[in-house]
Amino acid sequence: MKRQTNDDITSRVYSYGCVPERVAPIRGAKEQQNQLRLANRLWNTLVAIERARVARYRDIMRDDVQERIEQLRETMAAARDSIKARRAAERKRGAPGPEMQVVAEARAELGRLIDYQREHAKERHDAKRERLDELNSKTKHRVKRVRQAAARMGLFWGTYNEVIQRFDAARKHGGEIHFRRYDGNGTLTAQIIGGTLAARCVDGDHTFFQIETPSESKYAPARMRIGSTEDRDPVWLEVPAVYHRPIPAHASIRSVSITRRDGRHQVNVTVNVPKPEQRTGTRAIAVDIGWRLMPEGDQKAVRVAYWADTEGRHGEVRVRAYDIAQFERIRSLRSICDLTRDEALPAIAEWFGGRELPPGFPDVATIAQWRSGDRLAAMIREWADHRLADDDEIFSFAAAWRKQYLHVSRRWRNSSENMRARVREQYRIFAVHAAREYDAVYIEDFDLREVAERPEPESEEVATGSSGYRQIVGPSVFRGALLNAAKREGLRVLKLPAEYTTRTCHVCGHSGAWDQAGSVMHRCEKCETTWDQDRNAAVNLLRLGLASDGTTRTGNQPVRPPISGDSKGRSKSGPEVVDAAAVGA
Ligand SMILES: [Zn+2]
Repeated sequence: MKRQTNDDITSRVYSYGCVPERVAPIRGAKEQQNQLRLANRLWNTLVAIERARVARYRDIMRDDVQERIEQLRETMAAARDSIKARRAAERKRGAPGPEMQVVAEARAELGRLIDYQREHAKERHDAKRERLDELNSKTKHRVKRVRQAAARMGLFWGTYNEVIQRFDAARKHGGEIHFRRYDGNGTLTAQIIGGTLAARCVDGDHTFFQIETPSESKYAPARMRIGSTEDRDPVWLEVPAVYHRPIPAHASIRSVSITRRDGRHQVNVTVNVPKPEQRTGTRAIAVDIGWRLMPEGDQKAVRVAYWADTEGRHGEVRVRAYDIAQFERIRSLRSICDLTRDEALPAIAEWFGGRELPPGFPDVATIAQWRSGDRLAAMIREWADHRLADDDEIFSFAAAWRKQYLHVSRRWRNSSENMRARVREQYRIFAVHAAREYDAVYIEDFDLREVAERPEPESEEVATGSSGYRQIVGPSVFRGALLNAAKREGLRVLKLPAEYTTRTCHVCGHSGAWDQAGSVMHRCEKCETTWDQDRNAAVNLLRLGLASDGTTRTGNQPVRPPISGDSKGRSKSGPEVVDAAAVGA
């Protein structure tokens, strides 16, 4: 497929979740499974061909240097295994043994040889040109035959193209390409050559993709073509999609995919839309992004950002106490997972200690140090296929643990996924609203990962240990949503130095020093106005943004706030904004 290079067009993906299969069954599941199985088989056959090609290529290119390289790699691997085994036996990080020396020497020689091979790559290939060409044309032929076979067996061409593209991408990316076990999950794709207007698919009658706007219930069918009948009519896969975000009617739909994962589906619609024109208007919003626990009733909410705009309005973006409470629940599920792992692991590790294992058995040399329950569960799954002598008692113990663990970890993942989706949706709504209302966004220019949490103002207690929460719905996620929406809609985005925004009083301009970790409310020592620290930062950021924003401002000129008391602030140059509190908004 030709890549879209037109500068005026941009590609976007709209994703829709679906309600679980047990709530609303899907249609076309049988053919979906058939297609997924064929797609999986195509992938694995391509992997097999590629592995054979690589083996043959190595064979052709084999020379003394190459053999020495492989020898060194084996030496290093053996030394590493022996270090690992010794550490496992000693159950601690032992002192560096003689193996370290072996590894270091091998690594140095290996580096020299690899450089040598790289420098002589062209000569080496030229010398074997004929055999390499033969290998390439043979491989091409094999791939072609596999494609034809997949098509003959009825793999629909959208998915078929997608598998080939994914495979080519993986090959170009380098590294080993893996076989995949068929487990009923996977992605099917329908491509629409030349694209089609979204208006023909949304509540429409397009023969490749149809999605309905839900009316009464939360979800409505989305249909994607996964084949054709003998009369060339579509064979549909129909899933209960939550169409919560409309695809613009003028967008051109290029492809659709439906992914199945553990009884849930997701619909991804890839569209082309014209690039937005850069906005030239003067409406601006400044968003001070932070992270502060706030009381909400007798619970805790999180303030993620505070904003102020050129219309004199301001407000906060908050994750409600309900969602924060959910996070606590998720965390306790997580710690149950860890706890059950800690209970089971020592017994299993002890049983394996020093035991001879048959080839093909999972590597358990370091099992006593495993931190991941998932890893242990996966090993037990493999173990089921490689049962050992006298393992009845310990295996049934392990299998029982695995069942319980998977149950809890599934609940944990589901809750976590639901909460993430809900909070991200709130961020997105704010971002979309901002992108619609304004022409420019001003934010602080810093790496959010380095920003410490702001302490809770009303108590001594500082929120720690919520790093997981930060990762999935924290300020950087909010910032990403905001920047995305701004970019999509053509807003100007100014990233401004943050140094002066928090310390300077937005009313009188006095730069004070106080304990910012204390109360969220602060009383300026000069003009004696009391304000919210975050709001103060947002207003200062807005002024800084307006001063740096190149767009000539006409009309809609913000008004200076009426300032009582110290009048020094008035003489400050630069634009001012209406202070909502001051005008009683
Ligand atoms: Zn002041």
